[in-house]
Amino acid sequence: MSDNEFTYNEIAAMASAVSRPSQAFIGGQFTNSASGKTFETINPADRSVIANIASCDAADVDLAVRSARHTFDSGVWSQCHPNERKAVLKRLAQLIDRDRVDLAVLESLESGKPIRDCLNIDVPETARCIEWFAEGIDKIYDQSSPSGGQALGIIVREPIPVVAVVLPWNFPLMMLGWKIGPALAVGSSVIVKPAEQTSMTALRIAALAAEAGVPDGVFSVLPGLGETAGQSIGMHHGIGAVSFTGSTEVGRMFLRYSADTNLKRTVLECGGKNPCVVLSDAGDLEAVARHAVNAAFWNMGQNCTANSRLIVSRNMKDELLEHVIAETRNWTTGNPYDPDNLLGSLISEEQYDKVRGYIRTGIEGGATLTFEGAIGANAGGYFVAPTIFDNVTPDMVIAQEEIFGPVMAVISVDDDEEAIRVANDTSYGLQASLFTRDVTRAHTIARRLQAGTVSVNSYSEGDITTPFGGFKQSGFGGRDKSIYAYDQYVEKKTVWFDLS
Ligand code: NAP
Ligand code: MG
Repeated sequence: MSDNEFTYNEIAAMASAVSRPSQAFIGGQFTNSASGKTFETINPADRSVIANIASCDAADVDLAVRSARHTFDSGVWSQCHPNERKAVLKRLAQLIDRDRVDLAVLESLESGKPIRDCLNIDVPETARCIEWFAEGIDKIYDQSSPSGGQALGIIVREPIPVVAVVLPWNFPLMMLGWKIGPALAVGSSVIVKPAEQTSMTALRIAALAAEAGVPDGVFSVLPGLGETAGQSIGMHHGIGAVSFTGSTEVGRMFLRYSADTNLKRTVLECGGKNPCVVLSDAGDLEAVARHAVNAAFWNMGQNCTANSRLIVSRNMKDELLEHVIAETRNWTTGNPYDPDNLLGSLISEEQYDKVRGYIRTGIEGGATLTFEGAIGANAGGYFVAPTIFDNVTPDMVIAQEEIFGPVMAVISVDDDEEAIRVANDTSYGLQASLFTRDVTRAHTIARRLQAGTVSVNSYSEGDITTPFGGFKQSGFGGRDKSIYAYDQYVEKKTVWFDLS
């Protein structure tokens, strides 16, 4: 007997009936793109075309910016009482909860993510995230300066009028929540460009935001391609900030767009090649393996904090690997609508080819392909099962490049110093996991790992209260989550009073 909330057949029926939003959302209206162009979006789990989505370009971006600016200047959102914005955003969170199943089905349909995660993680966490940022609205104070009795400096945070959010496809709803939560909370007007593979849940959120009472023009969604909609956002003089999550390569482009135009604030959350460091005193290796496998394979490894490198003390590597392989067998890969599956399809043919290419590179580079999982019943989509390479050395391509697929590279080391050196031997620095039972080693080594988040004796990104972002080429300019996320979308203004 399964304790799943829905059966496979129920999910499949809902997926074929769910309404599939396909128009852009600008100025409070669903609309075609100005050019009338569309692009196809597919279900990567069976390669079927599921909708033709409005393909926005420079004209639509310009329209959305004008509408956003007009509404900002009217003050209806930017100047309303904080309580009012809080109430509207909390209502949006409630509407996400109300439509939880529809949103989860839509997310799975378009992304190939397992319905189980969409229902239990992506949708509810998006609602809680928006609620958390709404709750902060009337709890954060501005500051006054320690300038003595003869003067008073007041430091106020003012919303940047028009901000843009450029999203990846791996967590379409959650990344949307991480960014629109704080941006709408501070009073900015927000333009969202979802990834071209995953537009529909963002469009659905636009409808819910309108229903919740977000005024027209404050929240727009412009589906489209990176080279058209994305670039036009990057180059627009009316946009004061861009918050981006995606590849480091495209992140660099946004810095160039900013440099070449209006120096818009640019915040980047980019790739990772994150280490899971298991020291000789890690303790219960079965428990460590559970974390390491989750860290490597969750979301099919399409996760910027995926722990794709398992760095382990040589004398216990074989034992840990046995546990890792045993645990990996539990991570069933197959039809995303089957609620028993923990893993679904990769996002696209391009990503499938890329991941298969890295698996070939691993073999040709001399690593030992020690485990390849099985793929369950599926309808011919872009499935890759969990894959584990042993005897990987730090210089190998599969130890250096972000694969963004379910591929784990196991690297053996002789001591703590080598573990730290290998862990840091990457151009990225997003997340690291560290396993040791020694509290002193845990503290000292956590401080020496070059990563925005280090989790000790678990794989974790922290929670909504902790900042998220990368060191080195994993990030730039700011943090998502936590109270620091608001800073992405505000200017600090000094108002100076001479009291002498
Ligand atoms: P990407 O190209 O970096 O896409 C991220 C966002 O930027 C998408 O909305 C994309 O639009 C847009 N974009 C693409 N080219 C652009 C351009 N020239 N100007 C302005 N915007 C542009 O990521 P991807 O193609 O989805 O995936 C490629 C690789 O990036 C993955 O294999 C993975 O290694 C990495 N990645 C990392 C993360 C992360 O969370 N760190 C997330 C996704 C991907 P389109 O959707 O139209 O391309
Ligand atoms: Mg792309």
